Amino acid sequence: MRLSKTFIKTLREAPKDETAKNGAYLIRAGYVHKEMAGVYDYLPLGLRVIDNIKAIIRDELNRIGCEELSLTTLQNPEPWEKTGRFDDQEVDIWFKTELTSGGVLGLAPTHEEPVTNLMKSYLSSYKDLPVAVYQFQTKFRNELRAKSGLMRGREFLMKDLYSFHTSEEDLDAFYTKVEDAYRRIFERAGIGGCTYETFASGGIFSKYSHEFQTMLPVGEDTIYYNNDKSVVLNKEVYNDEVLADLGASGETFEETTAAEVANIFKLKHKYSKPLGLNFIDENNKQQTVYMGCYGIGISRLMGVIAEKYADDKGLVWPDTVAPFQYHLIGIGEKGIAEAEKFYAGRENRVLYDDRDKRPGEKFADAELMGIPLRIVISDRTLEEGMAEITDRKTGKSWTIAISELFEK
Ligand code: ATP
Ligand code: MG
Repeated sequence: MRLSKTFIKTLREAPKDETAKNGAYLIRAGYVHKEMAGVYDYLPLGLRVIDNIKAIIRDELNRIGCEELSLTTLQNPEPWEKTGRFDDQEVDIWFKTELTSGGVLGLAPTHEEPVTNLMKSYLSSYKDLPVAVYQFQTKFRNELRAKSGLMRGREFLMKDLYSFHTSEEDLDAFYTKVEDAYRRIFERAGIGGCTYETFASGGIFSKYSHEFQTMLPVGEDTIYYNNDKSVVLNKEVYNDEVLADLGASGETFEETTAAEVANIFKLKHKYSKPLGLNFIDENNKQQTVYMGCYGIGISRLMGVIAEKYADDKGLVWPDTVAPFQYHLIGIGEKGIAEAEKFYAGRENRVLYDDRDKRPGEKFADAELMGIPLRIVISDRTLEEGMAEITDRKTGKSWTIAISELFEK
């Protein structure tokens, strides 16, 4: 991508109401545009990060046999009324809208009801099971507070996966596979070392749910962890009874803040029963389908990664999610000619700052944008037949022969 050709511009200041670091940097660096509190547009760079995150998740979920689909945003109240979730919310998080022809529709805050309802058209026998489907979808929640940048949106991207089984054992086995896939996903997304599977409240249908919590000073959640971080609990289940249940009585726990990047639940019959999702078993008897649901906050994950690694100069992306691998700058006549040559054929991996600006300004923008490696080819480095590479994360620079650069 050529910076001279894109419409995006880096900004000196973030909007006044953008108090979160991730939001401020992502806006200033041209990754997102803020429409209003908790509502962001994804610009070309931001979309590339989202797509990289999605690709990692897709890869890991397809490997364990999940199928991708896309459910509707507009929701018919009917299935939600059967589970009591259309009106009877402690806090109403729905955005609802009136039909001109009469009646009300909602914008989906999640998709358990519609996916359960949909499966009634396809699942009828034990031979049809198990099934696991997922989507990347925009969710709408009328959140009370949206002050954490991408970490809490009123319109946000979620990956939601739903699984359907003939038995609790089959659900348990699949749940374990998802836990493993999630660990690989967060590892690959660059936050494996600071993200922990955490016991959280599970509602009435199973003892616990599991969250994946990324330790973060500005995280909205409070978690407790033992010495080797082998037992991590959300504050909501941190009590003597649960500690005993987990065999962790008497251990010392530390408190810290964290951001919930994922949450997985064994739903069992929670939605399949009220919505009547049944199957005929081997003995010709009707049974209720067992379900699990597994969410990852895609836009929150992007915000968390930005928040976690940003320094006082700007964003710092892990290689795997970065929109580009190289941030190229040419200086001087020969330097620019050589940079042009390097850029040709590498348009998809190189962000090329070919704007008519001073080098100092370009360096500052490179730091703000956070691409992993900066390559500078200048008349001066070319005198030795070299280019200079700088690692955004460590700030370390080294030189590399131009011939070697082109080979790599
Ligand atoms: P929270 O407790 O943070 O409000 P939740 O438990 O209500 O989240 P889930 O319904 O479990 O969220 O949604 C699955 C995932 O979607 C969460 O783990 C989180 O990563 C993400 N998510 C939830 N709400 C938001 C939001 N308002 N903005 C961005 N991401 C969100
Ligand atoms: Mg949750």
